Amino acid sequence: MSKIIFDLNDTEGKIKIPDELIFGRTFTTHLLEMDYIASEGGWQDAVIKKHSALNLSPAALVIHYGQSIFEGMKAYKLTNGETSLFRPRKNFERLNKSAERMCIPKIDIDFVMNGLMELIKLEKDWVPDKPNHSLYIRPFLFATDPFIGVKPGDNYKFIILLSPVGPYYPEGFKPVPIIVTDKYVRAVRGGVGECKTAGNYAASLYAQKEAIKEGYTQVLYLDALEQKYIEEVGTMNMFVQFKDEVATPKLSGTILPGITRMSVLEILRDWNYNVTERDISIHEICESYDKGNIVELFGTGTAAVISSISKLKYNEKILTFSSEHAGELGIKLYNELTDIQYGRKEDKFNWMTLVK
Ligand SMILES: *Cc1c(COP(=O)(O)O)cnc(C)c1O
Repeated sequence: MSKIIFDLNDTEGKIKIPDELIFGRTFTTHLLEMDYIASEGGWQDAVIKKHSALNLSPAALVIHYGQSIFEGMKAYKLTNGETSLFRPRKNFERLNKSAERMCIPKIDIDFVMNGLMELIKLEKDWVPDKPNHSLYIRPFLFATDPFIGVKPGDNYKFIILLSPVGPYYPEGFKPVPIIVTDKYVRAVRGGVGECKTAGNYAASLYAQKEAIKEGYTQVLYLDALEQKYIEEVGTMNMFVQFKDEVATPKLSGTILPGITRMSVLEILRDWNYNVTERDISIHEICESYDKGNIVELFGTGTAAVISSISKLKYNEKILTFSSEHAGELGIKLYNELTDIQYGRKEDKFNWMTLVK
């Protein structure tokens, strides 16, 4: 039976969270690390220790062949001072799905949940209590074998990093311009699009760079087969509000099954919206827009929760929405989700897990 070991010989003074938090740059004092060693029966004890550089072979499999998966979730400081997590088991379940597809050993979800709780309790002063701040949690898992032949590793490292973060949109909830690409694809049928695996993000950088050059912040990908149906944005799932329907692309293996997406679907169904998960072609979006049948477009993801879309460019066609004000439904969903996450509203779906 694995256990959690505290390796804490550091004498920390009082911690100070920087006033200006840039997403993903500041890390807490400690992390959780757990090795998988096939020759020693698999997962070893988890160690909570000081955040420091890794000792890794330059031949480590992950560097050469990319056997690496990750998750992203958040801990929130509630109005009563307690700390809470949003659907954390869903993240670990998804990590195990990514693990299976990438030939990486699965983690024991109960054990890792326990380790995460212990780590957050130790780092409780790192959970920001300013409005719309949170503690971003990054679990990841990669192959460490010093071997440069292509094969699944025998040895892995699982780490949980914690990073205090400010609001995603510091100037307020502002819509973003997005460009549709029919030149690059994100994922193909039978590929790894539904896994949170490192290579997917490396593969997206070039299209993202071109989008920024054109004045757009992110790329909306189409299906790789016909270049016709919308799939998702770099790190967000897409929603289209038609006059009489709220639609999102169905999960078909090429789209990351977002936990925010799943939660938005549950909220919308609870609110009695006509919600569908289906194929949505970019042509349908353009035609509906011309007929005045599109109310708003938004993306969903842990980092920003809801991202309203100000402008959607597809070849010569540009669909414009307000660049100043987020759409009504986007705002309503943002408020509902964040009210539940920060404990300002009853957790009627039972989504929150208290850290205790
Ligand atoms: C993480 C991610 C999402 C959003 O998932 P959430 O669980 O809602 O944070 C969407 N698309 C991609 C490609 C992602 O990596």
